[in-house]
Amino acid sequence: MNNGNFEKFLEILDDDLKKIFEYQKEYIVCKKGCSLCCRRGDYPLSEIEFEYLKAGFEKLNEETKEKINNNIEELKKGNRDSYICPFLIEDSCSIYSHRPIICRTFGVLTEDSKGNPSFPFCTTLGLNFSKIYDSENKRLSSKLALSGNFTILPKIFRLSNNIIMKLPLAKELNIEFGQAKKMIDFLLPETGDTKSSNE
Ligand code: SF4
Repeated sequence: MNNGNFEKFLEILDDDLKKIFEYQKEYIVCKKGCSLCCRRGDYPLSEIEFEYLKAGFEKLNEETKEKINNNIEELKKGNRDSYICPFLIEDSCSIYSHRPIICRTFGVLTEDSKGNPSFPFCTTLGLNFSKIYDSENKRLSSKLALSGNFTILPKIFRLSNNIIMKLPLAKELNIEFGQAKKMIDFLLPETGDTKSSNE
């Protein structure tokens, strides 16, 4: 795969995301070493993202590759419900610059399919946006937002994978995302050689 256009796409996306995270920084507590979202679940990504992730894997040293392959072997034996991303090594993303789009957007206040605010799961753990979260009614509290001495009000960004994949930029750069599925389904397809996906 020629990664050129996809890298350009990610570069522009990352620039925009940087501004979005900066804009909402009063509500965000993401920091290096926090890997809760990587431990939380098995996120979807598209074929082009998985190809790009594999290209990132190829650049790693042999020791890290082995650790990832061991994690994948463990996943083979394990229960999908206890999924932890196999690329998480010592609480850091080993393929950070090649990580999927959903890993880049995680943590901000987005909207669900009905246009309602959608909080990241870590809100309920007292992290991102928890200062303005009404836990009883499970929604954004305008009372907390207005009384919290914040310099800006929270803003909802439309950052679902579906929306990002349909951005005019993707068309302009001729990005074909291909089929989206969960990472475990790319790593452990029902047939075929799993290891060949990662070497
Ligand atoms: S690819 Fe990286 S950022 Fe995404 S869940 Fe895995 S370890 Fe976390």
